[in-house]
Amino acid sequence: TGGIDWARVRADFPLLAREIHGKPLVYLDSANTGQKPEAVIAAVDEFYRRHNANVSRAVHTLGEEATTAYEASRDKLARHLNVRRDELVFTSGTTLAINLVAYSYALPRLKPGDAILLTRMEHHANIVPWQLVAERTGARIKVAEITPEGELDLDAMHAAMTPEVKILGVTHVSNVLGTVNPVREICREARRRGIVSVVDGSQAVPHRAVDITAIGCDFYAFTGHKMCGPTGTGALWARREHLETMPPFLGGGEMIREVRFDGTVFNDPPHKFEAGTPNIAGFIGLGAAVDYLATLGMANVDAREQELLAHATEAMAKIDGLRIIGTAKEKAAVISFLLEGAHAHDLATLLDLEGVAVRSGHHCAHPLMQFYGVPATCRASLAFYNTHEEIERFVAALGKVRRLLV
Ligand code: PMP
Repeated sequence: TGGIDWARVRADFPLLAREIHGKPLVYLDSANTGQKPEAVIAAVDEFYRRHNANVSRAVHTLGEEATTAYEASRDKLARHLNVRRDELVFTSGTTLAINLVAYSYALPRLKPGDAILLTRMEHHANIVPWQLVAERTGARIKVAEITPEGELDLDAMHAAMTPEVKILGVTHVSNVLGTVNPVREICREARRRGIVSVVDGSQAVPHRAVDITAIGCDFYAFTGHKMCGPTGTGALWARREHLETMPPFLGGGEMIREVRFDGTVFNDPPHKFEAGTPNIAGFIGLGAAVDYLATLGMANVDAREQELLAHATEAMAKIDGLRIIGTAKEKAAVISFLLEGAHAHDLATLLDLEGVAVRSGHHCAHPLMQFYGVPATCRASLAFYNTHEEIERFVAALGKVRRLLV
């Protein structure tokens, strides 16, 4: 794909050379958190060794270097996602980004009788903040259901966009099913009805080219650690008009212009929402991650992962008693599965002994588990740095574990 030497790309990730229980690691948990290339590790290391200082506070050289590098990451991300830099608020991840929308945008606006429309496949990060805000405002939660294949029922969803719905929360890509939702169409329908849309891009940004402006949403949240960046980084993109009218969520340093005891003047967005010393090294690392992904090209990353997904899906289908949950037509490289007669945790534990890292559990999506009537699934999630050989090893390990368990 794309004339890229994927074996060399893989060699950029030092952790992937590890052995686990005496076996070469097969890391299939990238939807949980992604591994980091040397360039990202080096950027963080270099910052602490040579440039460490606080941002936006000091005029000395180190302070200016730190501020310049930190703000350069905002430019890189903005370009990468086709948005304006001053509409990109840095947060610790998707969770804080969505909470920021919930508390700063929704809490002052929602009234009793209003509704928040969420989909069945949301991560808890795009459910619980809305429940907390609903409780405080008297608004209620409405659910857009899915088909057994794990796709949104679009007609039902559009029909659910009734006048009392003020906010729509929808994930771009499901972290459990891999389903890629047609967010552009959904957000257009929402906008036509005056509904503000909040898209959870956590599982989209790491795997495909995302053009937030083209999606046409009001808010787009994502996390840095799944896209080769450090943990504790992420962002909220919001339309400028929202950022201007939203009160700050957290108060403190960095987010003000002038503080008096009789009133404070806030800084302009995005700084108005970035109180306190941020994860400077982390965001500089995230900038390096964006550079790294841009060098590969997101279209190539996507194509490579689709190839690996097709391989894994086909090979897994040959295992007796294995059921894949989530068979949408458009999928990211996430495969949730169950093995008849085996508990998901036992499966994951035995796979670990074979060097294979998969996640087992509810994947922070209880309502989705309830829909499928299961307490947990196993999930193999791939990234461009995985190999066809690893998929063969994973499937062989699954066969071996199956013989032990079933
Ligand atoms: N939404 C989705 C779809 C996710 O997969 C995740 C991470 N598992 C999150 C939100 C939360 O991201 P974070 O923990 O980085 O805030």
